[in-house]
Amino acid sequence: MNRESQPGHIDHIKQTNAGVVYRLIDQHGPISRIELSRRAQLAPASITKIVREMLDAHLVQETEFQEPGSRGRPAIGLVLDTLAWHYLAIRIQPGAITLTLRDLSSRALEEDRLPLPVTSDVPLLQTLQTLVDAFFIRHQQRLERLTAIAITTPGLINAASGVVHRMPGYDVEDMPLGETLAQRSGLPVFVQHDISAWTLAEAQSGASHGAQDVIQIVIDETVGAGVISGGQLLHKSGRALVEIGHTQIDPWGQQCYCGNHGCLETVASTSSLLQLAQQRLALQPDSPLHQQPLTLENLCRAAQQGDRLAHDAIAGVGHHVGRMLAMMVNIFNPQKILIGSPLNQAADVLFPAINSTIRQQALPAYSRDLELVPALMSDPGTLGAAALIKDALYNGHLLIKLLQG
Ligand SMILES: [Zn+2]
Repeated sequence: MNRESQPGHIDHIKQTNAGVVYRLIDQHGPISRIELSRRAQLAPASITKIVREMLDAHLVQETEFQEPGSRGRPAIGLVLDTLAWHYLAIRIQPGAITLTLRDLSSRALEEDRLPLPVTSDVPLLQTLQTLVDAFFIRHQQRLERLTAIAITTPGLINAASGVVHRMPGYDVEDMPLGETLAQRSGLPVFVQHDISAWTLAEAQSGASHGAQDVIQIVIDETVGAGVISGGQLLHKSGRALVEIGHTQIDPWGQQCYCGNHGCLETVASTSSLLQLAQQRLALQPDSPLHQQPLTLENLCRAAQQGDRLAHDAIAGVGHHVGRMLAMMVNIFNPQKILIGSPLNQAADVLFPAINSTIRQQALPAYSRDLELVPALMSDPGTLGAAALIKDALYNGHLLIKLLQG
């Protein structure tokens, strides 16, 4: 066994048990110690010990509550204490960075959204360090309870090592983002792909909450996916991503920047949609779209109002994404598919196109009861990073650090 990556057996059990107890209190609080013991399948003495440590670390607190079905004296229950600890949630997007100080309920306390220039003489890692330092200086009166940093970014990422191998738009090669910020701040740092983190956020408290098998597709400047299989995010701690943007959808399609032809991204990204609409518009001089700037908002509105050109262009994206999804449905057999996209503004056009293609092309037994729904968060902001923190509390990884003080 690799001693570097595997915690000792007893420590690992302690970490897992603490995570389970924390999650149960979050999901069922106020909850009595007896009920916790029953749900966690842990001995009452173990619950007493774990809860005492959590009380000391200001992670949970006691409250009086009326147990269901009881008319006697109020019982003592446990709820989370979410105010005692803060963390910094960061989202990197092409051209911009958002830094949010949050408490453990995910409530935003401070937020700065700043430009992140694509071309710069300064290496990106250095710029990011400077921006984090500046955030700490600006908000230094609120930092004494700071406990961790979580970052989401597009690109090719190793979530386990915190290395960003590639980042679209930036000159990045094997950037040790997690380790650098951890050394500088002395805090644990969690790094994850933007779409994987959003998928996790929707599963924790969004449109896929409670579902065990989910596919989430994001249609934006790029096209990507996150998969929850058996209640777990696929590829959570590795280098891999559910890469769908560069799957060939049209063998005779235009060349993609990856070198392939007819990738999903060449026919279903928002920029390819706008490009297509622009080309078709030139052939239709009487379209009302000529009277307004060609933006996604206007295209979606026109499609919803029945404009043929806008309708067909957006339905086309739906059919292309539907073909990809039909293959994924046959592999993962999900209960739910979530769509996160600015094109959800034309959901009445996009969703039927996706749905009909899946139903035509996937196994009927798999597609029959499938639900296709919009993601709850139209723009997750730094809530993806917040989901990484919650996940690290639920699996005990970050929790054990807070318990040890
Ligand atoms: Zn490609």
